[in-house]
Amino acid sequence: MTSRGGSQQELRAWNLRRLLDCLAQGPLPQIELAAASGLSEATVSNLVKVLLDQGKILLEPGVRNGRRTKVLRLRGQEASWHLGVDLGRTAIRVASLTASGDARVHTAEVSAPYPYSHAIDTVAGLVARFTEDGLPAAKPSGAVVAVPGLVRTGAGTPPGLLGEGYHQAMGWGSVPLAKDLAAALGVDVAVENDCNLAALAEMHEGAAQPYRDFMYLYCDTYVGGALVLDGRIYRGGGGAAGEFGHTSVDTDGRPCWCGGVGCLETVIGGAALVEAAGGGVDGRPTTVEQVVEAARAGDEACRDAVARAGTAIGGLAGTVATPLDLGCVVVGGALAGAGSLLLDAVRTRLTSFVGRLRPSTPEVAVAALDADAVLRGAALAARQAARAS
Ligand SMILES: [Zn+2]
Repeated sequence: MTSRGGSQQELRAWNLRRLLDCLAQGPLPQIELAAASGLSEATVSNLVKVLLDQGKILLEPGVRNGRRTKVLRLRGQEASWHLGVDLGRTAIRVASLTASGDARVHTAEVSAPYPYSHAIDTVAGLVARFTEDGLPAAKPSGAVVAVPGLVRTGAGTPPGLLGEGYHQAMGWGSVPLAKDLAAALGVDVAVENDCNLAALAEMHEGAAQPYRDFMYLYCDTYVGGALVLDGRIYRGGGGAAGEFGHTSVDTDGRPCWCGGVGCLETVIGGAALVEAAGGGVDGRPTTVEQVVEAARAGDEACRDAVARAGTAIGGLAGTVATPLDLGCVVVGGALAGAGSLLLDAVRTRLTSFVGRLRPSTPEVAVAALDADAVLRGAALAARQAARAS
């Protein structure tokens, strides 16, 4: 410890303020408080006693790095955690996220389509398990639920009502998911498109960390996307912004289930990719994963199919990235598993499209979080909403 030239009393007051400043960032176990403050463990031990006696801090049960422990918390700093929910086709997953960044996940396997009531009951059952995990409060401060489909927003749209694609996939009809989950959990719930949340997670913790303006593309059986502008998800007037899978890249192309013609999904989605790779006959690949695996193993037809998909992605990315001045294109989903076989084609096409108006070609990156991105993004969005309120 270094004397700052003042009296012992001044030094002690400075050290006390230092501890309070550290705890203002979030609760910490005492040993981590010593590391964060740069003070010795003996000094921290003495000063923590003073702060506890003064009632300025509290010692509470908590979870740190997945283990139960005692944590020190500023009095008045809301004991809170935030809930992310992912209603997937094969699993329902819930994640808790505390102020200090600790996260826990509970999962229930499901098989789509599953009944709406099963979704609500399963989420409530999984969230109840958090009470055994030593979280700082019985209930989350708020929740965000991810769904694979359009979430309509805008004037006259009931909040949290699911979009048509998801209705059809699950057979749920028109359901007020946010309202029903809020009633089951006793907290505010917001519904968000899964790709938007994956993009949010990539921005905070993944491949898009240095960027505030980027596009995210999820390339798998279906093709989804998200647009992040100035560090925020851009939803557009009705919630459909960033749906790059349903942006026309071939005006003379095939009709798409969405009603459009030549959508990116009709060119690089699972069915188109498998067909381009000669799939479905004589043991040829039948899924995106199999096409990617065969391409990586050297299968020429699969390599060509992947490269053509990359060219299509690069073309779309070029037309979007220039007018919006995007810094990065993040590609996720099974197709991204092809790595440079895909990305080299994306970059080549993108470079040829962007011209000289920009100082540099946008970065092209594979999503870093992938399978966990949606759930992590949901929990981060719930925390963001709580901080904004
Ligand atoms: Zn479409």
